[in-house]
Amino acid sequence: MKNGENEIDTIIFDVDGTLSEEVSWLKLTDGLGASSETHAQIFAKFKNGELKYPEAKQKLISLWQETGNANKGYMEDMFRSWNLKGDAVETMEYLKASYRICLMSGAVDLYVKVVAEKLGIDHWYANTELVWDEVGNLIDFHYFADQSEKKLEHFYEYIAKFGLLTCQCAVVGDGDSDIALFRELPFGVAVNKQPNSELEALATRTISDLSELQGIF
Ligand SMILES: [Mg+2]
Repeated sequence: MKNGENEIDTIIFDVDGTLSEEVSWLKLTDGLGASSETHAQIFAKFKNGELKYPEAKQKLISLWQETGNANKGYMEDMFRSWNLKGDAVETMEYLKASYRICLMSGAVDLYVKVVAEKLGIDHWYANTELVWDEVGNLIDFHYFADQSEKKLEHFYEYIAKFGLLTCQCAVVGDGDSDIALFRELPFGVAVNKQPNSELEALATRTISDLSELQGIF
């Protein structure tokens, strides 16, 4: 597909809410056997300033560690067991025949890696890096509060690596973390299961099912 004078080379995809139905952060907490409600409360207190980042992070890590499941093997198996949207695989197979695909997600790196492997995608960036000890127990993570800006940083890293122009890339996403990419890239497709009016105002097209991308690209 052409974007003005330029052929589109790469389609950037968000993960949570775009390729999958859920918010992986809360599903991760549930899957470890901890309370996603407690997780949501910690996050709300971080957002409203009641908890500073180091305290909020420590509370969440402790919540996960107390389950006894916060290790690389358990988490990787869990991520592999999670389903993507029903039309994700066929849509990606169709798009991969003509475009490079790159995932840019606010989720944890191990999850994004598993999704990329499932879909046969070589390029991916995650905003959150999990830190393991020498036997694979989770001991820390690095998170960025401004998810949208972090994705934009990853985007510049990606286009520099492949010598691409911004106008040779398109973006597909559903939420606040995609807004900076939708502002920067001239072609954006909003996936609107959860209406996001700011994103939709910036989008070239809005779809409700991923398979609709086959008629766009
Ligand atoms: Mg999303």
